[in-house]
Amino acid sequence: MAVISSLRFAPYFLKRQARYPIYLIFFVTSKCMGRCAHCFYWPSLNREENPLRPDEVDRIASSMGRLLQVTFTGGEPFLRDDFIKLVKTFYRRNRPVNLALATSGFHPDRVEAGVAELLRDCPQSQVTVGLPIEGDPELNDRIRGVPGFFERTRETLFLLKELKKHYPRLTVLVDLTASALNQDHLLKTYNLVRKELRPDVINLILVRGQPRDPESLQLDPAQVETVLRVMEEDIRLGKVKGFRFFGGLLHAKDILLRRMALDIYRDGKHRLPCTAGALAGVIQPEGELLPCELLKESFGSLRDHGYDVPALWNSERGREIRRRISETRCTCYHQCFLSPSLFFSPRLAPALLREWLRIRTRRV
Ligand code: SF4
Repeated sequence: MAVISSLRFAPYFLKRQARYPIYLIFFVTSKCMGRCAHCFYWPSLNREENPLRPDEVDRIASSMGRLLQVTFTGGEPFLRDDFIKLVKTFYRRNRPVNLALATSGFHPDRVEAGVAELLRDCPQSQVTVGLPIEGDPELNDRIRGVPGFFERTRETLFLLKELKKHYPRLTVLVDLTASALNQDHLLKTYNLVRKELRPDVINLILVRGQPRDPESLQLDPAQVETVLRVMEEDIRLGKVKGFRFFGGLLHAKDILLRRMALDIYRDGKHRLPCTAGALAGVIQPEGELLPCELLKESFGSLRDHGYDVPALWNSERGREIRRRISETRCTCYHQCFLSPSLFFSPRLAPALLREWLRIRTRRV
């Protein structure tokens, strides 16, 4: 089912421009109980806010057609009592191929109940839940700034793995953010995740933006390189399960993506045109529509423009933003945006295919 519904997005491989963001990141709230030292979103956290109400979200979702993916994030999205209702709105209106939920896992029961409801009520979408682990319990909690965080995230992960036994459409993913704060323990942390927590997918993200602790940006690429090599070998040897849909291809994309992110981190050079503002976009808690969270550019407020995403996306301002991103050869290593840029890149298709074949044939 996921493969068939993904095929409708194949034309964007050549067009690389959609009428609205088919790959959408929705920050549902800025409220968060975490105090993560590497957080890039920290200046926006826990401000007084007037987040989009369910009826407003319904109008926004109704303005768009089918979506490839919606990633729901925050803050901690499960702090909103109506969070699952918002996700279901996108399911009803846009039938995304993948509903991706980024949560800290701080509320195991709430996450389990919400994800179970989604799996029950959204039968035609894949559901992916991403949980963060930054180190062993002591290091993880130190980076998060909250005692007991590791245990809560771990409990959530195991509850989700139980759910998966009934719903194979669920993918449980662990995100490990590499920063100067955990770089001496990256390999140990990766092995802890792979061998003891055993999620379906393990992702390694490079610290980005202007984190709460600026020291965390002093990342040594050699340390990341070491863990990437092990991760790649594990994938090629079939030690990490992967997504159920397009599993090998998504593994291949992630291998290329992490390599590219590290290369950009090292030298800052432009590698491929960014699809932010063309295929990928961001909605902030109060309805601001952005191409990405890093660029200081906005298409405008959806509240002020009739909740009409295509109208803002295709406005003169929208065209101007896209032109600027393209003409300045805008470059960053933000993996959420490298992902669609890479996946919809004809130039990188041969490399993607080569990597996929290597995984298929288990060539290390
Ligand atoms: S390269 Fe990075 S900063 Fe520039 S538009 Fe893309 S995601 Fe945003």
